[in-house]
Amino acid sequence: MPAPLSFAGTPASVGYAEGPLFSLDRSAGAYVAKGSEKGERAALEAALAGASARLESLIGEAADDAAEMLEFQLAMLQDEALTGPAFAAIEEGAQADDAWGACLEDEIAGYETAEDGYFRARAADLKDIRDQVLHHLTPHGAAALPAGAIAFGDDMAPTRFLEIDWSQGGGIALSAGSAASHVAMLARARGVPMVVGLGVGLETNGDPVLLDGENGRLVLDPSDQEREAFRARSAAFAERRASAEGYLGRPAATACGTAVRVMVNIADPSEVDRIDASHCDGVGLMRTEFLFGGARGLPEEETQYEAYRRVLSWAGDRPVTIRTVDAGGDKPVSGLTQAESNPFLGLRGVRLSLARPDVFRVQIRALLRAGAHGSLKVMLPMVSVPEEVARARALFAEEAARLEAEGVAHAVPPLGIMVEVPSVAVMPESFLDAAFFSIGSNDLTQYVMAAARDNASVAALSAASQPAVLRLIAELARFAAARGMPLSLCGDAGGDPTIIPLLLKAGLRELSVAPAQLALAKAAIATTAL
Ligand code: PEP
Ligand code: MG
Repeated sequence: MPAPLSFAGTPASVGYAEGPLFSLDRSAGAYVAKGSEKGERAALEAALAGASARLESLIGEAADDAAEMLEFQLAMLQDEALTGPAFAAIEEGAQADDAWGACLEDEIAGYETAEDGYFRARAADLKDIRDQVLHHLTPHGAAALPAGAIAFGDDMAPTRFLEIDWSQGGGIALSAGSAASHVAMLARARGVPMVVGLGVGLETNGDPVLLDGENGRLVLDPSDQEREAFRARSAAFAERRASAEGYLGRPAATACGTAVRVMVNIADPSEVDRIDASHCDGVGLMRTEFLFGGARGLPEEETQYEAYRRVLSWAGDRPVTIRTVDAGGDKPVSGLTQAESNPFLGLRGVRLSLARPDVFRVQIRALLRAGAHGSLKVMLPMVSVPEEVARARALFAEEAARLEAEGVAHAVPPLGIMVEVPSVAVMPESFLDAAFFSIGSNDLTQYVMAAARDNASVAALSAASQPAVLRLIAELARFAAARGMPLSLCGDAGGDPTIIPLLLKAGLRELSVAPAQLALAKAAIATTAL
């Protein structure tokens, strides 16, 4: 049977690339044991220093966004909390390479399977750090990829991405990987087409391939006909993108002039540095889980306050909706979440925050203090019953009273809820105390359709375009309009040009989308007759 020549994956960075397929792997040599504890310790120290020096030189050359990520890696590499266990293992007789690999394995394992960007990004950073140090412990072959190549591998480290010259084109095809990883973020920022989750191992010998980062396909050994169709799609995409850019600077409106507010979803506060605030109506969702990931433990009040304040000052008068930590489910946080047999139905989101008031109060204080610096709204994730909102509100009131007594500047923000559990979507009248509703279509869809959001084999079921999901959204929109409840949608469906017309027809007038989707979302709104 001939081998299949076309593979489907997940689009991670849109665009089209045509070029020779080359492997990302570098040939690794074997580690040479040093024969003494002292020798192993010195080898690891030298490798850590070598990896740090390389990061420092990359930081010197990198653009702001990449430099920030590299600085994070450098800080991790120099953090004794991370490196300590490896030196302890050497003391107990391990070799430097085994000690270092094992020490990072536990850290990585917790984050590797997470679906969301901030956690995948942390896992990818940790893997990157692990490999950089291992690279310094073992001799390696040459790393260069020819200009314009399509790089193929299991996953890709962000530093590997930064080593490659993308100025001649090229793209990335990964058999695993995640559309929400740091490297995918870099690829989107640089306009490098990328497809992840291809699920195949391939011989990479420089043969010409086609990479379709819009539809998530890799075609090997294309026929003339396939090549022609690919080039036509690529040209049409370039045209669509160029005309969509024209919508960026204008307020969003449908073809019939109905105004639609379009906001952005962010996680790391540094993301706002690449967004022109005048292109959006504010931040519809700031995920705060990124603050809780990594090896540094739970974040302090000051760290959180600075992160929130940075986004508020970027937004000026525009509203910024910050979501309290949505740990649990597919987002484990060490020191906060526990292993559960069915984490999507377990102690996640506001349920976990209420179960850990010690952690929740720190976030609440940071939010109250940040509230004094802009138009802040706070949103609770995974609300299921009205009591959860009441208990969270009481905690906000208690912490506000404490700050008042301490003479610390603060402001109590409007407290809204995510509508992502069907119990809320079905009985919104029980939640009229909330200041606003924001539909989390990713989770709402998985719970309505009983189809996990992270399981590719039920992806067709876990789609917000399913009629049952759209009916619930339309009913929510009717309810909100009748009761004067502000309503938006911040799930991924809001940025999908194929679903946007359905959401607008269901009655939504406020969407929050990934920054990279802003132009195409505004263009999709503009071409919807409504
Ligand atoms: C959602 O569920 O749609 C949502 C926006 O939240 P998250 O993807 O972070 O769970
Ligand atoms: Mg959600």
